[in-house]
Amino acid sequence: MDRQAPEPTSPATVAPMGERNPHLVERLRGFGTTIFTEMSELAARTGAINLGQGFPDADGPDEVLEAAVAAIRAGHNQYPPGLGIPALRRAVADHQRRFYGLEVDPDTEVLVTAGAAEAIAAAMLALVEPGDEVVVFEPYFDHYATSIALAGGRRRVVRLQEPDLRFDVADLEAVVGPETRLILLNSPHNPTGKVFDADELAAIAAVAIEHDLLVVTDEVYEHLVFDDAHHIPVATLPGMAGRTFTISSGGKSFGFTGWKIGWAHGPAELISAVLVAKQSLTYVSGGPFQHAMVTALGLDDGYYTELADDLQARRDLFCAGLEAAGFTVRPPEGTYFATADIRPLGFDDGLDFCLSLPVRCGVVAIPSAVFYDDEDAGRHLVRFAFCKQPEVLSEAVERLTGLRPGMGPG
Ligand code: GLN
Repeated sequence: MDRQAPEPTSPATVAPMGERNPHLVERLRGFGTTIFTEMSELAARTGAINLGQGFPDADGPDEVLEAAVAAIRAGHNQYPPGLGIPALRRAVADHQRRFYGLEVDPDTEVLVTAGAAEAIAAAMLALVEPGDEVVVFEPYFDHYATSIALAGGRRRVVRLQEPDLRFDVADLEAVVGPETRLILLNSPHNPTGKVFDADELAAIAAVAIEHDLLVVTDEVYEHLVFDDAHHIPVATLPGMAGRTFTISSGGKSFGFTGWKIGWAHGPAELISAVLVAKQSLTYVSGGPFQHAMVTALGLDDGYYTELADDLQARRDLFCAGLEAAGFTVRPPEGTYFATADIRPLGFDDGLDFCLSLPVRCGVVAIPSAVFYDDEDAGRHLVRFAFCKQPEVLSEAVERLTGLRPGMGPG
């Protein structure tokens, strides 16, 4: 609305503007423009290399691009059906069978959304009563907090503990109570790059079953896993398919984040419940891009293998570069993101570090504190996105080399 144009050097752009906006409803106070928008704007203003928001700097496969153009030319430009075009719902079901052995009914158990973000928000709006509690693993993607708040829910966090980012099952059990409605899971995990293993998922499933909770799971990084890590959809665990709402999208798997084609699957009653909220958000979206996603999901196994291998090579290049530049890095098992500890370089505040970084050396990163309720827990960490061309990553590493506190711009 009357948001001020950002000042080139103003750190206030990262402050939660909601706190001082009299128009904003109380349940959204404390939230401002997301860090991703802020940092991408900062990158655009300063011309810095943007390793903040997670999006690739190259388009996905040509045949998918061509399929979108063809769909526009073929006249698929009016409202798609409320659940999404049947061909895409079938493609989602086929994909879940091909990769995970899940049986999904494309007619009643799949919903196409405006990216995973809409699926998450609609799920919270449809499934969470005001006052209900939603469990999230901290650090968490900021959109979860806003979506829970939109629904009037309350978040309860379970910390992924340093150094191996495992959680204590006792912590999970401790936050679950009579008000708990659901567990909002994210694996592979943004921002840490952790991939939840079979034991961890089994522990989560046991708690969900014991307390009769739903699980909403954001699996958009499902194909971006490295080395011997293995993505396990929580819906594949015994007893879980009937209580799990699984979300993914084409943005990350196919390199088209701007198309905003996401989807969800789950029991028909969960799908129809979430549709009630979803149809009052975007109603429907992305008609021709839904057609292109059918082509994308049908790509052969080689595409998916190469996608992960290629990104793994970039991870290796970038993480080695960060280590050589003096950061301490925990190499991610999946996702677009590497988290670096800035303390070995003599810095201690990731927000200050990220705000000054574009001017110091022409790189944008995300301060990990935004992913924590307890900001102190993430103060020393910053998140870099490495889903960029190798030469861009090498240039970024060069710029990040030799940083030290007090060093001026340039
Ligand atoms: N998931 C992306 C990230 O973490 C951002 C998506 C967004 O900006 N909404 O970078």
